[in-house]
Parts: sequence; structure tokens; C-alpha cells
Amino acid sequence: MKFKDLSQQSVECRSFGHMWRPYTAQYFEEKLEGVRSKWRGYKVTLVCKGCGCNKHFKLSHTGDYGHPYYRYPTNYKLDHRITPDERKALKLAAIEPWISK
Ligand SMILES: [Zn+2]
Repeated sequence: MKFKDLSQQSVECRSFGHMWRPYTAQYFEEKLEGVRSKWRGYKVTLVCKGCGCNKHFKLSHTGDYGHPYYRYPTNYKLDHRITPDERKALKLAAIEPWISK
């Protein structure tokens, strides 16, 4: 995906952050040698209301937060690492539809 092909939602999320909403929270336990519970908690999925990106992470029964991973929609990821100048242009592009005339 080229910079100019990003959707407006992707541009806004990249500029100002995602709008996370809870989607699923599934209880599970990791067994140690099939007997005792080594870890228990929830597999949590959040979905961005804007771009549709998914965020997955574990949350233990005591509230410890696991390292998240993300699944991005097809119109979100660039085929190169974003440059500082592109990041600036992205922020301007994000507000462009909202500029008062
Ligand atoms: Zn988003």
C-alpha cells in the first residue's frame, strides 16, 4: 500500500490513535503438565470503531496485561516504514476534511 492510497479512517487512526471498543473476552487456563493451572485469565479482543483494526491481548485473572498483537485491515499497512515527513503529512491529511471553510 502506498501512502496516497491509505483510507481516510486509516489516516485518522494513524494520526490520532485508534478508537478501541471491547469485542470479545474469553476465559481460558494454561495447564502445567495437565494438572495445575499455570495461568488463567482472558483472551481479549478489541476492535477499532474507525479503521477496523483488531487488538488481541491476554488479561490475567488478577488484571496483569499481556503483550498485545494487532491485525490490520488491508487498507492500513504501508509497504515501507513511514518517514518523518510522511508522518507530518498524515496529520495534515487527517484534519483536511474537518477544516472550517
Ligand atoms: Zn483504527
